[in-house]
Formats: sequence, structure tokens, C-alpha cells
Amino acid sequence: MASESNSIQQSSTQPVTPGDDDGIREIRINPVVPSESVLVATARSMRPKKDEAPAPRDTRAHVDRCPFCTGNEHMTPPEISRCPGTGDWNIRIVENLFPVLGDDRRQPDFSFGLQQTIDGYGRHEVIVDHDNHGISLHEMSAEHIAMLFGAYRDRIEQLYESDDRLKYVLVFKNFGPAAGGSIPHTHSQIIAMPVVPENVQAEVRSSAQYYDKHHRCIFCSLIDEALTFEATIYDRESGEVRRRLDVGQYIIERGERFIAVKPFASRYEWEVHILPLHHQADFRDTSEQDLQDLGQVLKRTMQRLDAVLGGVQYNYFLHSAPGGRDNRTSSSYHWHLEICPRTSIPTGFELGAGLFVNTVSPEHAARRLRDVCI
Ligand SMILES: [Zn+2]
Ligand SMILES: [Zn+2]
Ligand SMILES: [Zn+2]
Repeated sequence: MASESNSIQQSSTQPVTPGDDDGIREIRINPVVPSESVLVATARSMRPKKDEAPAPRDTRAHVDRCPFCTGNEHMTPPEISRCPGTGDWNIRIVENLFPVLGDDRRQPDFSFGLQQTIDGYGRHEVIVDHDNHGISLHEMSAEHIAMLFGAYRDRIEQLYESDDRLKYVLVFKNFGPAAGGSIPHTHSQIIAMPVVPENVQAEVRSSAQYYDKHHRCIFCSLIDEALTFEATIYDRESGEVRRRLDVGQYIIERGERFIAVKPFASRYEWEVHILPLHHQADFRDTSEQDLQDLGQVLKRTMQRLDAVLGGVQYNYFLHSAPGGRDNRTSSSYHWHLEICPRTSIPTGFELGAGLFVNTVSPEHAARRLRDVCI
């Protein structure tokens, strides 16, 4: 632990090396969506790493010409809401200047032969996460992060209520150029769409199948396993130890109500998921106390990622039970936040084979994130 913190003090921009990552080469099946698998191959040649120093971060608190900075509210598209409701704001929701989906014109769905389209109906909005221009998530107070997720929750609810053609509301954040963040002022986005995205549907479908078989939520089972499972697996032929599983091996952070875990079949080297410890299908059901604890767990998780990776660029997105609240989904599905740091570029192999390649074993990444001093 001591050497970890020393090396980070010397330079937080050191590229991460697998170090004592044991030579693993195996395909891991995603337990939630079995059709998705990941090749964990710790031989570094598998994937071009973005070893260059992270892009310099704009840490200015205020930028005169930035449309998201205070005093420039007239430069954004119309405001939808702000937090607090009146006076100086901490968080603002505005319409997107270049929406990918919109409700300003309608065109009928279209089907001809194998060509099928669904009208690009929907809403696309921007959330200015903080009044401080260059602040990173790990530098925000846990209370502010709780308020931000409260703003997400309230807006998701309003959008579902506003129009029953909206089938899914996705909240996500792109941070840093490698993650597609085009405006430097910290912000997130909301897209309300007329279809449930296929990856969410796949999670909902697979977890419902698991529920039918085992009468349990698969996400709750995964959390229990992470908290209680210990085993040594031996090779049948040689008797050598093939794998040792330890209690808490995949846990990065734990609060009273939330847990941050490293998925066993992580697509990205430093991917981390945050889930409520107690079963909850719909993010809209989070209470104020839930959000406070989520704020703490997310802040500490981001501090860990920043300490290990230095200037982490990432995407995060919320997966929650889609649209209407039907009972079946609420027993079998469990909402979560997926955080995907961008440290490498997908290759032709990944695009062509549909198989993610992860060059840092999830066990090693989890240990690094847990042991780093924050
Ligand atoms: Zn700004
Ligand atoms: Zn659950
Ligand atoms: Zn998910």
C-alpha cells in the first residue's frame, strides 16, 4: 500500500502497468447477459494502450465565454429547471443545442422490405453538473453528487410522466475528449427515447430468466457472492491451484446502502459498477438517504480511479428498469451505474468479433483500486 501511494505522489500520470497481474488468457461470460463475453488477456500486445499522458485538464473555475458558466445563462438553449429552484444555481438542466432526438417534427414509422425505421422522437437535454467550470466528479462534495443524482431522478420521472411514447430515459456522462466529452464544462446528458435500448432489454430479459429459475434477482446474487464467497479451484490433472476466490475480491467501495464492484467479466480495464445493496429495480425509487450514500460511494470510487489512473476520462450511464413499473421487472431487475474509464481504443478484433478485450485482470484492477490511498 505504501509503495502505491508513493508512486502516485511522484507522478499521477504514470501509465498503469499490469505489474504482478498473473498471465491470464480466458474468455469470461458476462453472468447477467451471457451472450456478451470478454477476452481477458493480460499479454499487453493484444490491444493498443493509450499510454500517452492524459489530456491536460481545464481546471479553471470560471470561463468568461463558456455558455455553461454562471452569468452566461442567456447563451444556452431554454432552461428546463435549476437546483435550487430560485436564485443562484448549483445544477441546471437545459435543452440540447444539437439534439440527437427531438419532438419538434413528426414523421411516420417506415417499413419497406428489410428497411425499417422508427421516428426519431424523443428528448435530448443537458445537465450542467456544477457551477464550477473545471471541477471533476471526485472533487465535488458528496452532498453535491447526491443533489445531482436527485436532479437526474426528478427529471427522469417528469419525462416518463410527460409522454407515454417515451419508453426509456437514459442518463449518461462523457468526461474528457477520449470519452466523447466535447464541452469542457462538467455536464451530463439525458436522452428520452421511443424504444428501450437493446443492451438494457438484454439485461432485463436475462435477469427475468434467472429470476424464473432461481426466484432471486441475479444482481442481488452477485452482490451476495462478492460479499461472502471464498473458494480455491484446483486443476483436475495436475492438482495445481487454478484460481482462488476471496471474499471481497471484487469490491472497491462499500457504503451503508451502496456498493462499488469490479465486474468479473469487465469489458474495460478499469470498469466499475455501483449498485444499491438492497434490492431496488427502479432508480426513481431512491430516497434522499439513498442518494446521500450514493454520493459518498461514487465520490470515493472516482477518487480511487483518479488516484490509480491520473486524470481519468470516462463514460458513466444509469441502467434502470424501463418505463412503466411492472411487478415482474421490479423483482428481477436491479438498477446500477456503470462507470467505464477510457484507457484504450477498440480494435478491429473487438469490433469484428464483438468480443471486448481486457488486458488487466479484473482481480488485479480491483486490488489496485482498493489499495490505493485516497
Ligand atoms: Zn464553464
Ligand atoms: Zn436485486
Ligand atoms: Zn447495465
